[in-house]
This record gives sequence, structure tokens and C-alpha cells, in this order.
Amino acid sequence: MKKGLLIVVSGPSGVGKSTVREEYMKDASLNLTYSISMTTRKPRNGEQDGVDYFFVTKKRFKEAVKNGELLEHATFVNNYYGTPKAYVDKLREEGKNVILEIEIDGAMQVMEKCPDCLSIFIVPPSMEALEARIRGRKSEAEDVIQERLEKARKEMTFVDRYKYTVVNHDIKQAADEIASIIKDHMKDA
Ligand code: 5GP
Repeated sequence: MKKGLLIVVSGPSGVGKSTVREEYMKDASLNLTYSISMTTRKPRNGEQDGVDYFFVTKKRFKEAVKNGELLEHATFVNNYYGTPKAYVDKLREEGKNVILEIEIDGAMQVMEKCPDCLSIFIVPPSMEALEARIRGRKSEAEDVIQERLEKARKEMTFVDRYKYTVVNHDIKQAADEIASIIKDHMKDA
């Protein structure tokens, strides 16, 4: 069986990565599975353990790093995030195309380890639009919002390290663009 693609999707916090993902994942012909990350961040309202993330303690996370359980890992605004490796490998062996929705430090690690991965960076139409989205989420305190915006400005400078850039003017249009990039690569793979 043909091994599945490894697809890295990044973009600043608040750009709408997960909303766009929910849209393109509706297309069954893309044969996608989302890789659930491990994090030490506390769940937001409505987030479920084992669905949105595996929510763990810092002790458990450090153990996972030490045991080599993670494909990549990074610190983002005082919390740890990482991709469980065994699950990604298993899905790809089964022929599934796997989506990693991760920040830039982790994405750079993946690009180095798997140079043939498909990388996509989602950008907001403007920084003002991004700030409005983060504030609209009403889930973070002002100091965390400021840190996430500062991080977003830094992340935007990494855009040309990715194979593709998609502007999220509109959820459906961004999702369609990503779907067509993936379809092109499925043909080539
Ligand atoms: P949030 O706290 O908003 O869910 O995520 C913060 C940032 O961490 C986002 O950019 C998200 O894509 C990224 N992220 C989520 N999971 C992982 C992961 O496993 N590894 C890395 N490096 N970043 C992740």
C-alpha cells in the first residue's frame, strides 16, 4: 500500500486553522486524518481530552520527550505541545494522509526529519483581522492575548519556509485551496 502524505499546516494563533480544517476534512476523497497533539495547556471550554488534544501534566510531557515518543515538540506561550510519533507512523503506513496542525518551531523539526512532507502556511488577511479573531474567542486574558499577537508577528516571518501559503479571507475558499493542493500531491505521490 502507498504510504500516506505527511501534511504540516501552520499559521498564527487565531488565524482559523481548525475552522478551515473542519471544512476541508469534509472531503472524504482527501483521505485525511488529524494527528491529535499532546499539550500541557488547560482545555478551553468545549475541548475534549483525546479529541482536541491529549491534555497532560508537565511531568508526563517531559517523560514523553525523554522516551522519544514525540515526532516534534515545542513550547508555545508557556505550554508544551508535541506530536505523538507512533500514531502518525501507523496512520501513514495504513495509507492515510496525516494533518499536523503545529506551530513553526515544531514544523521546522518535521521539515528537517521528513523533507518530502507537504507544508502549508495559513495567513490572515491582515494583522488587525487576526487580533479581532483572537479577542472574539474571549478565551484568553489580556497578557496572553498580547503574547499570542507578539508570537504571531514572529511566526509570519517564517512564511517562505513553507511550500504553500493560503490566505484565510474566507473559510470555504481557504479550505478549497488546501484541498486542491493536497489533491495535486496525491497524484504525484
Ligand atoms: P492552541 O493553544 O491555540 O490550541 O495552540 C497554540 C499553537 O500550538 C498553535 O499554533 C497550534 O497549531 C500549535 N500546536 C498544536 N499542537 C502542536 C504540536 O503538537 N506541536 C507543535 N509544535 N505545535 C502545536
